[in-house]
Amino acid sequence: MTDRSLLLIPGPTLVPESVLQAMAQHPIGHRSGEFSTLMGEVTAGLQWLHQTTGDVLILTASGTGAMEAGIINFLSPGDRVLCGCNGKFGERWTELCQAFQLQVETITAPWGQPLNPNDFATKLTADRDKTIKAVIITHSETSTGVINDLEAINRHVKAHGQALIIVDAVTSLGATSVPVDDWGLDVVASGSQKGYMIPPGLGFVAVSERAWQASKTAKLPKFYFDLGSYRKDGAKNTTPFTPPVNLFFALRQSLQLMQKEGLPQIFTRHERSAGMVQAAVSAWNLPLLCPVESASPAVTAVAPTTIAAEEVRSLLKKQFGIAVAGGQDQLKGKIFRIGHLGFAGEREMLTVIAALESVLHQLGHPLTLGSGVGAAIRVLEATP
Ligand SMILES: *Cc1c(COP(=O)(O)O)cnc(C)c1O
Repeated sequence: MTDRSLLLIPGPTLVPESVLQAMAQHPIGHRSGEFSTLMGEVTAGLQWLHQTTGDVLILTASGTGAMEAGIINFLSPGDRVLCGCNGKFGERWTELCQAFQLQVETITAPWGQPLNPNDFATKLTADRDKTIKAVIITHSETSTGVINDLEAINRHVKAHGQALIIVDAVTSLGATSVPVDDWGLDVVASGSQKGYMIPPGLGFVAVSERAWQASKTAKLPKFYFDLGSYRKDGAKNTTPFTPPVNLFFALRQSLQLMQKEGLPQIFTRHERSAGMVQAAVSAWNLPLLCPVESASPAVTAVAPTTIAAEEVRSLLKKQFGIAVAGGQDQLKGKIFRIGHLGFAGEREMLTVIAALESVLHQLGHPLTLGSGVGAAIRVLEATP
């Protein structure tokens, strides 16, 4: 059967039917009163999602564009920054900062392990002259399925007192709590095709008052991504350039769905999905790439030893029409990653777990049929 695929990669993610329907309308003029109303509504929804009363700006860009905007508006060439690097997206931060001639010091951990907050503390407490301008972190490292301890790292940044905390929350926002105001996060970047449950094309950047202060002296060049102009126009519920208005329709609908569900419920659902997958994988005696204590609620990486990860992926696709992701770079061919971010829930988890069990069985991995599904059902029944 064709035309029946289930997308369980960590982005783009599944899009609800009502969101797709919302997009299927004629575009409206972006200088119209109707658009201003829409812009006001989505901005309020974004503030709710980010748990902030500050600015959340909307860019026509993928997540990386939002990350770039988060650097060039707040820093100057030669600025000293600390970049956390324990996967593909940490590397992206490092490369991005290097491209803009920042003086980058990386704090690394092996792929599959979380960053150690003490490594940040050591550098930050040694910096008595306050030369470190920013600490830059990937919250949920999608390439490995690790969630970094942003709260602990940020506490050390706050103790330093000067450095900004700049966060890639692309696969943590909408999956776990990212309380921007409570934690005092300065710059938080995300993208539409992940927890937002809408197609790719929008980037988001939350900006704190402290970051706006820093932007006054920031000298990196910018034009399209000059966030000051998005802030100025945003105050009038408009945008500096033509926005993808149909994606704004989608965003309004998805934010309404999220608000109806509620933040705590959304986070619980993601925890439950991750727990179901972890329980099944453990019942099959397959290794997870990262320790369960540091597992991201958005994506689970499995590192099979008895069978080839790519064979699992291709049979899952061919036989069941289910797409899961492979490994990137050094993890290519070594892992497969199940995305459970956004619209996915227990129905999708039971489906992918049952299909995986069949695929593993067919490929000759020793398991007891029903063991993974049973373990997942037990998690499902044990969580609210
Ligand atoms: C998807 C993702 C991004 C953004 O990638 P784009 O392709 O530019 O949207 C950034 N960081 C993380 C952790 C991601 O998962």
